[in-house]
Amino acid sequence: MHLVPFVEHEHTLSRRVMRRFVLFAVALVSIGVTLRASRVQPTGAAPAAQTTQLLFLGTGGGPPLNLDQSEPSTLVIVDGRSYLIDCGIGTMRRLLQAGVPSETIQTIFFTHLHADHDLGLADLMGNDFFVLNQTGVSKRIDIYGPPQTRQLVDAAFHYITFGFTAFAAEPGAIRAGLVNGALRSPFEAHEIQHDGVVFEDDKIRVTAAENSHYVQMPSPANQEMKSYSYRIETPHGAVVFTGDTGPSDAVTRLATGADVLVSEVQREDQIRQFVKRIGEQNGWSTERTAAFMDHMTREHLMEKDTGGIASRAHVKALVLYHYDAADASAAVVAVKKYFAGPVFGSVDLARYCLGPHPGSFGACSSTAR
Ligand SMILES: [Zn+2]
Ligand SMILES: [Zn+2]
Repeated sequence: MHLVPFVEHEHTLSRRVMRRFVLFAVALVSIGVTLRASRVQPTGAAPAAQTTQLLFLGTGGGPPLNLDQSEPSTLVIVDGRSYLIDCGIGTMRRLLQAGVPSETIQTIFFTHLHADHDLGLADLMGNDFFVLNQTGVSKRIDIYGPPQTRQLVDAAFHYITFGFTAFAAEPGAIRAGLVNGALRSPFEAHEIQHDGVVFEDDKIRVTAAENSHYVQMPSPANQEMKSYSYRIETPHGAVVFTGDTGPSDAVTRLATGADVLVSEVQREDQIRQFVKRIGEQNGWSTERTAAFMDHMTREHLMEKDTGGIASRAHVKALVLYHYDAADASAAVVAVKKYFAGPVFGSVDLARYCLGPHPGSFGACSSTAR
């Protein structure tokens, strides 16, 4: 179910240049150059049907990058069909490592458009565009997100066209993706303006709730930008992603009774030290430092907040992400003080399985992959 009107994106290249690109692609095939991505064999084999899997592609927060964790990105695989939640830097590399061809993901959701959650999109789109055109597959990829998602998707597509135009400038041209001589985008943006059901197909139903991640943002910016948490109902149970948020009754309501809550968490003692250090390094006033601390405590979740939401919402299990996974076991212990149920600390490329038996949740067995 698409609740937001269809918008088609087309970017034009001259017919002459595109004709060259066609010839170029034909030449590539004729000399036996094949697409590496299309030949990648999944390292974990195809995801098993009859389960909902959570494949964590990136578990770190940002924007600063770190070596061991990609930025937020999670694949929800329902009976073998993949849906992507956020697309931070490193997503494409993690998909390759997991053996998931990016072009098989036809639905993407952004919780919000902070840089750590969306800067991997152009990578993904570039790979999708190349593979789909090279293989001649006609497919639409739907990208849902808050206001400004259309601008983001348009800008990312515009960005990748430079690289493909460079191919086109050679004596050859891309084989497919042309409609009346224009380079046609397979990416369709859908902006979510309000809480409620925002997507439904035969596998999942997605409900959005605006959270408190931008609660301190002044007007008019807070009219133009929104941050959402998502509840995803699957045949095997309900999974809720907090995305980034501060303490929020709306998120607690959204998560009520969920089988799994995937939640961000910050370590309060570390955050206090971090903010103090940043304030001193930059010579900030006491007020400026206090305002930054306010952002961290009111627009993100500390251990007590994460555990509190899970506890009040009576979720059956809690998975931590958007945190320092090097410290995962300490974060789990810290959150367990506030939530009595099972708590898991995710790392990049970890897979968790919900189902096939009702209520069963935990790390996937190797045979379930
Ligand atoms: Zn974030
Ligand atoms: Zn954020």
